[in-house]
Amino acid sequence: MTLDSTPHGDRSHDSRTRYDYLVLGGGMAADAAAQALREQDPDGTIGLLSEEATEPFPRPALSKKLWTDPDFTEDGAWLGTADAARADVLLSHRVVGVDTDARTVVCADGQTFSYGRLLVATGGHPRTVEGLPEGDRVLYYRSLADYRRLRALVDGDDAGVRPHVAVVGGGYIGSEIAAALVGEGCRVTLVHPDDVLGEKKYPADLAAAYDAMFREHGVDVHAGARVTSGDAEADGVRLTLSDGAVLEADAAVVGLGIEPATSFLSGSVKLADDGSILVDAQLRTSAPDVWACGDVVTYPDAVLGERRVEHVDNATSMGAVAGRNLAGAGEEYRHTPMFYSDLFDVGYEAVGTLDASLETVTETTEDGRIVYYLDDDEVVGVLCWNEFGLTDAAVDLLARHARPADPTALIGSPKGS
Ligand SMILES: Cc1cc2nc3c(=O)[nH]c(=O)nc-3n(C[C@H](O)[C@H](O)[C@H](O)COP(=O)(O)OP(=O)(O)OC[C@H]3O[C@@H](n4cnc5c(N)ncnc54)[C@H](O)[C@@H]3O)c2cc1C
Repeated sequence: MTLDSTPHGDRSHDSRTRYDYLVLGGGMAADAAAQALREQDPDGTIGLLSEEATEPFPRPALSKKLWTDPDFTEDGAWLGTADAARADVLLSHRVVGVDTDARTVVCADGQTFSYGRLLVATGGHPRTVEGLPEGDRVLYYRSLADYRRLRALVDGDDAGVRPHVAVVGGGYIGSEIAAALVGEGCRVTLVHPDDVLGEKKYPADLAAAYDAMFREHGVDVHAGARVTSGDAEADGVRLTLSDGAVLEADAAVVGLGIEPATSFLSGSVKLADDGSILVDAQLRTSAPDVWACGDVVTYPDAVLGERRVEHVDNATSMGAVAGRNLAGAGEEYRHTPMFYSDLFDVGYEAVGTLDASLETVTETTEDGRIVYYLDDDEVVGVLCWNEFGLTDAAVDLLARHARPADPTALIGSPKGS
């Protein structure tokens, strides 16, 4: 297998240019949609256009299991979209335009496809640092191709010398990659703009413990700075930081969040201020016969209100509803998603808003803690730290829009509800 190949091959149909259902994107939302669509409609033709060179893959594994679980391999992880959905999966097909009147989609190479119904599941593209283009040693980390490049850099030195990697960004991708790379024996410098890692999300004592955990595992945490510019050479990178420091490393992995991938829509559907696609409860866009799902949409969450979510539970649950709706189900998306992260030997699951500027109430448990975030005395977020399987109950708590007179009366409520 070459580095850019996929074991399943490109299931493109050589001649077909019209599909009953056309799905844009090759992520987990697109996969879930195509599979649910096939269950709902056994006969309609399904095409999937993805700019990636590889088939849909479980994206969280790129910063977790591919590094931490020796039994987890690429070969066993493919989502199997083409077979399960009996879909034509057309890889390396970047969509550059959509005409919702003519019901056509055009790709970068000029190929045009027409559709009966269209689903946009294009997720997002990583935010970049100005003046620091992607290259052999600068990875804006999102795809399996990025993982393979990073893996090759990490494993590359026959003498067993691991690279020094600058990780830019202290969000979940940056922190998980930093943890994975020190686990591989790399020297890691993690650059983030806050004083304490996690201080914007977690109560102060938890953020301090979280920050200390990285340092204890050998991560060199460079706090209070952003990367303002950088140069990449054939053998390394040089990053200039906002505090005046210059950081030299063998490679940089950047995790600064994403921008919704919607530029190719150029006015054909209504967008929110952040560039994401506005959908209604049935995941319909403003254009006829065009639905959207996953990281790329702002949707009306039944419990939390209008929002955009960048998490896998949302991508797969929403994708499935969108797929059924393309085939005429007319279902509302009612699932309030949970999210999670795993680092070193800790993990968390959460729902709602984790904002450390809100009032918090903490319940200490045998293995960890549960943190309730209160806005105007109403519970708007629940963090289960080293506590698992409680997020359905936490969603129920949020759905009650509880405004208890005494916030400490919440202690134990997710388990008890
Ligand atoms: C490294 C990493 C770790 C993560 N870990 C977690 C985690 O622990 N927990 C969690 O809840 N979430 C996690 N996430 C987030 C989660 O994976 C995403 O929320 C989810 O995968 C989004 O799925 P999506 O299909 O909506 O979008 P994406 O995964 O972004 O997929 C969009 C697809 O559309 C394609 N595309 C974009 N533009 C075009 C175009 N113009 N033409 C054709 N194709 C296009 C993209 O290439 C991609 O194939 C992680 C993400 C990453 C990158």
